[in-house]
Order: sequence, then C-alpha cells, then structure tokens
Amino acid sequence: MGAGQQKIIIANWKMNKPDGALEEFFQTLDQEQTELVDLYLAPAFTMLPTVCAAANMRKFKVLAQNVHHQLQGAYTGEVSSLMLRELGVAGAIIGHSERRIHCHEDDELINAKLQTCIQQGLTPVLCVGETAAQRADFRAVLRQQTTLSGVDISKVVFAYEPVWAIGTGDTASDEHIHAVHAYLRSITATTARILYGGSVNANNARSLLNIAGVDGLLVGGASLVAASLLAICRATP
Ligand code: PEP
Repeated sequence: MGAGQQKIIIANWKMNKPDGALEEFFQTLDQEQTELVDLYLAPAFTMLPTVCAAANMRKFKVLAQNVHHQLQGAYTGEVSSLMLRELGVAGAIIGHSERRIHCHEDDELINAKLQTCIQQGLTPVLCVGETAAQRADFRAVLRQQTTLSGVDISKVVFAYEPVWAIGTGDTASDEHIHAVHAYLRSITATTARILYGGSVNANNARSLLNIAGVDGLLVGGASLVAASLLAICRATP
C-alpha cells in the first residue's frame, strides 16, 4: 500500500459528510505537502465517485469503508470488490469494530472479505482490537482476529483500534500501543504495516506516530475537518 515506508494516514469519515464542501476540503489538502504521507480518504459509498474523481488529480487515494465478500449476485444493498476496483478505489476498511458490533460481522465473514478484496487487487485494511471488557486479555483477542486462512497476509494492512478508544477521547497509552504493535508484528509478519486508531487528533498525532512500530494512523472524527486532517498529516516525523 503506497510507495516506500511513508506513514499511512487513513481518514474514515464513517456515515458523515466532512465539514464544508468537498471541493474546499480537497483544496485545503492541496495546500500542503500531503505527498509526505500515504493519505487515504474513506468516504461513504455515495461520495466514492466524487472522491475518486478528485483523487485522480491529487495526492490521496480512496478506500471504501466496507465491501461484500462475494463479487456479484443477489445481495441487495451490497457493494463488491469488483465494483470498487472499477470505480478506482484502492482498497477497503474491513472488520471495523462498528461493523463487528452493529452489523454482527464475525471473523469468518471478515476472512472471506479479505480474500475477495485481495483477489481483486484491492488493499484490505483489517481493523482489530479489544473491547473494554477484553482489555486484560487483548493478546487472545488479537490472536483470534488475526488468525486468517487462505489470505496472503503480506497484502493486508492492519489497524490496531482498541474499541474503548474509538470516539471516546481516551487514547491508548504509548506503552500499550508499543506493546500491542510489537505483539501484532510477531503474530502477523515482520514486514506488516500496522496502524493505530482511536481518538487520534491534531494534538496527539505526532507522539503517536513517533511510537516505534506505528506505521500510520486511522482517524475518525478528526478527519472530518480538513485543517485537522492536514495537521495530522504534517505531524509525520
Ligand atoms: C475510527 O473510526 O476507526 C476511529 C478511530 O474513530 P475516532 O478517531 O473518532 O476515534
């Protein structure tokens, strides 16, 4: 995903529109050297064509927030990897905790989504992370969520997102993030790209990006404001 070992910044807009008009948002990103990071915008499906068209002329790439595990067929309301690829989307966020919780997605389904995504040449960003109740046992949770079958793990970008840190303002400590990233690397691949997500903002991005083993950030709320997304990109060491 992306060239070299630049930090990866993913803006997950969820079911929100960013502040202001999209064109203004893109123009703000244009003003600075966002080429110093591998920047990905992940808008809702309805915005994908517009954001993909803008990405053709700009330095960011586009991710979907979800994808179906089949390529086509009688799956009302779903969108496939094939369709995303034809649109020019670079990859998809898979297994976000909000989908695991609200849409009851389990590891088996997530595994199938990873397979079709990779088959279509898209990059899957696999979200993993423990809930507050699982905090003491995070290793077992992460081991289970990263036990994949028939998936070329070298094609997967991992995003460690402790569920208790998402949208709460309660960022995980540097020590915890460092320990988890080292653990994830030991059970995935030494070359894996592993991002952190959970209440990232313009103020904490630099110290999070400086933690050894953190290859980038997955940003929710703070990515809806162009100036704050820009500040996060600029925080790259
Ligand atoms: C997320 O959506 O994955 C996320 C990390 O959200 P936030 O940055 O708002 O905590």
